[in-house]
Amino acid sequence: MPPSPPTPQSIDGFHEPRRENCPWCGSKRLRTRLRAPDRRRYQRGTFVVDECRDCAHAFQNPRLTSEGLAFHHRDFYEGHLRDFAERILATRPARRRHRAAARAMLALPEPESWLDVGTGHAHFPETARELFVYTSFDGLDPTSRVEQAREAGRIEEAHRGQLTTPAILARLRSRYDVVSMFHHLEHTPDPRAELRAALAALRPGGHLLVEVPDPHSAFGMLLGKWWLPYGQPGHLHLMPLDNLRTELESQGCTIVTTDRRAPHIPYDLSAALSLALAHVLPKAWLPATTPLVTAATALDHTLAPLLRRTRFSNAYRIIARKGTEQSPWTEQSP
Ligand SMILES: [Zn+2]
Repeated sequence: MPPSPPTPQSIDGFHEPRRENCPWCGSKRLRTRLRAPDRRRYQRGTFVVDECRDCAHAFQNPRLTSEGLAFHHRDFYEGHLRDFAERILATRPARRRHRAAARAMLALPEPESWLDVGTGHAHFPETARELFVYTSFDGLDPTSRVEQAREAGRIEEAHRGQLTTPAILARLRSRYDVVSMFHHLEHTPDPRAELRAALAALRPGGHLLVEVPDPHSAFGMLLGKWWLPYGQPGHLHLMPLDNLRTELESQGCTIVTTDRRAPHIPYDLSAALSLALAHVLPKAWLPATTPLVTAATALDHTLAPLLRRTRFSNAYRIIARKGTEQSPWTEQSP
């Protein structure tokens, strides 16, 4: 669970007070982009995603407290969502996508050490090792899955917790040639701090690889509250590519590549169907809907080669090189 940020008073134990300004640029010109019902049967309110009219950053507002996140992670809907995500991650297309991301790094100097942040079961390192046989892969994750991954031999070192925790960052500082974050940044309470920490874990000249959902994807407009990357309540921030690029540059990085095609995950239609069915049907009926969801998955995969070239692509990747100058933000703060 992400740690509670140095927090304003919670209003009900589950939500922080609503923000009046954009957490990315500070603008007060906000609009409500999405109002998602709490999908559990026993309603406890709605989740709101606001968007900044000035920088297009989208964020959960009011944000759940860590207690609120923990509560929602326990519930049925989140369980269903997790099962769905796990199924997606264990598939051949997921391995192909991971291999494509790893392949994008082949053009760069061969890394000795690689840290995958938010690694979960370390599916990415497991795949990347096929291409980087001399690279040592470590994983970091807040859950015990990272320790299981080490025991299973998918990573060398398991670090359990948050990258921004000073004790963890002190251990990892300047150790890595590559730090990767796949669909991790959107879960963090402060993506900027997370990026700073990732850069601090890199050696000068090392590379950061980030993949996140694209809030500009046309699927977001089309599917609204059933669009999986909205990921309510788990996703706290959805950052447009330009914002992330500008931020990395301002932190002293050179952008090596950006890509909207390869990172597209073919799951929009099947996930929307799965979420909608979980919302309207009793739990006991869900197994009977498997053929429907399977058909939607087939459609997602059939359309993917076309859609990933359009505004329907639902994710993007940035590879950035850390500056060789030691910059003030990588210094340990007291
Ligand atoms: Zn903004």
